[in-house]
Amino acid sequence: MKKYNFNAGPCVLPRQAVEASIEAIRNFDNTGIGLLEISHRTPGWEKVMSDCVALWRELLNIPDNYKVLFLGGGASTQFFTVPSNLMSTKAAYLETGVWAKKAMKEAKFYGEAVTVASSADKNFSYIPKEYTIPKDADYFHITTNNTIYGTEIKEDIDSPITLVADMSSDIMSRPIDISKYGIIYGGAQKNVGPAGVTFVIVREDLLGKVERQIPSMVDYRSHIKNDSMFNTPPVFPIYVMFETLKWVKSLGGVEKMQEINQNKAALLYNEIDRNKMFVGTAAKEDRSLMNVCFVMHEDHKDKEAEFMTFAKEQGMVGIKGHRSVGGFRASIYNSCPVEAIEALVKCMQEFEKKNS
Ligand SMILES: *Cc1c(COP(=O)(O)O)cnc(C)c1O
Repeated sequence: MKKYNFNAGPCVLPRQAVEASIEAIRNFDNTGIGLLEISHRTPGWEKVMSDCVALWRELLNIPDNYKVLFLGGGASTQFFTVPSNLMSTKAAYLETGVWAKKAMKEAKFYGEAVTVASSADKNFSYIPKEYTIPKDADYFHITTNNTIYGTEIKEDIDSPITLVADMSSDIMSRPIDISKYGIIYGGAQKNVGPAGVTFVIVREDLLGKVERQIPSMVDYRSHIKNDSMFNTPPVFPIYVMFETLKWVKSLGGVEKMQEINQNKAALLYNEIDRNKMFVGTAAKEDRSLMNVCFVMHEDHKDKEAEFMTFAKEQGMVGIKGHRSVGGFRASIYNSCPVEAIEALVKCMQEFEKKNS
C-alpha cells in the first residue's frame, strides 16, 4: 500500500534527493569512490560545500554581510551557542512552546534570560502579539514555527534589538527578509534535509563583542574562518540537503514554495473546519503552514483511537499528535506532496461518512 509520510521530523524528503544521494554514496562525482569514503578536503567536496552555500544565498537572497554555516549538534546546540556568542548580560525570549523554553533554559547559563511574552496560558495555541522588547537586552529570540503546537510567525517581525530566530521547521518555506535578523538557525531535518546538519545564518559584525572566552567549537568565528570545515563536517546530511535545495530551486524557489505550502495547508485546514468530527487546536490567524494540529470534536472524543487505526489502514504515517497537544498532527513540510494531503482529506471525509 502507498504510504503517506506526515512525520514531524525527520520527515519526508524529495525522492530525487534521496536517489541522487544514494548514487553519491556509491560513486561520488564520478570519482569511483563513495561520498562517505572521501576526504572532506578533496576539491570535489569543497565544491559541494561552496555550491550549497551559494544555493542558500540564492534561494533566501542572503546579503553579503551574513555568513552561512553548516554545523553539527542540531538546533539544540545553537540554544547555547547563540548566547555564548551574543549575550553580555541579558537576552529576551518569546515563549511560544517547548523549543523556545529549551532555548531559554540554555541561555540562563550565560546571563539573565527574560520572557517577553508567553502563550503558555493556552497551551501555546497562539502567538503572543502585544509585547515590548526590552531595548537593553542583547538580542530577542523567537521560534518562528512551533512544530509541536502548529503555530507560526508567518511574517518577519521588527525588533529594535538583534533578532535571533530558530527556524528549524519553516526555513525555506517562504521568502524571508534576512536583513531583519541577526542570526537564523535550525536543524535541517524538518524542512531542508536529514538529521545531522544544522544551518546558521549569521551577521558577521555581531560577533566578537562579548568578553567571555568561547571554546573554539562554540565560537562562530572558528567556523566562519574555516568555511564550516573547522572540524570534519557532516558530509552526508549536507549532501542530501544540497540535493533537497536543488529540488526547491527546480520548482521555482521559496516564493513558489510559499504558494504551494499555502495551498497545501488550506486544503487540510478547510477540511478540519468543514468536517464535524474534527477541530483545529491553533488560533486561526497563527496556524502553521508546516504542522497542522487537530483533535476530535468534543462530541466524538471517544473516536480518536478509531480514527488513528482507520487512517493507518489508508496509508497515513506519523499523524499522531505530540503528547503535549494530543490528537493529530500532520506535518506537511516542503517535500510533502499534495497527493498526501488529498489522501488525508479523503480519509477524514470517509471517516465522517462512516460515523454519520
Ligand atoms: C526539532 C526542533 C528543534 C530541535 O532540533 P535538533 O536539531 O533535534 O536539536 C529545535 N527547534 C525547533 C523549532 C524544532 O522543531
